[in-house]
Amino acid sequence: MDKAANAHLHRQLVKLGDMIGDGLHLEPDGKWISKEYRQVAQALGLLPKEDRSARIEAINKQMVKRVADVKCGKCNGELKQTRSGAKRAKCQSCGGLWQLLK
Ligand SMILES: [Zn+2]
Repeated sequence: MDKAANAHLHRQLVKLGDMIGDGLHLEPDGKWISKEYRQVAQALGLLPKEDRSARIEAINKQMVKRVADVKCGKCNGELKQTRSGAKRAKCQSCGGLWQLLK
């Protein structure tokens, strides 16, 4: 990576960090902030990719157990993890979202 790109990423990281400090990433339309923060930090080598995929794998494993044990609290339907690495599952019958891991 050249110096200019590196400096640009660092400025972005600081900017995003400030937004997170202000709590903007917790707003309904602010999810991209923490996502982009991770991506930028990863591009700068601050977050090793291996750790992340290992964590996702651990979550997925736990989620396989959770969706087997837990049914939808509204309609008793089958739950399915929303996406790889997610701690939430979606009911396949009514579309309800459930937080299965903390
Ligand atoms: Zn349901």
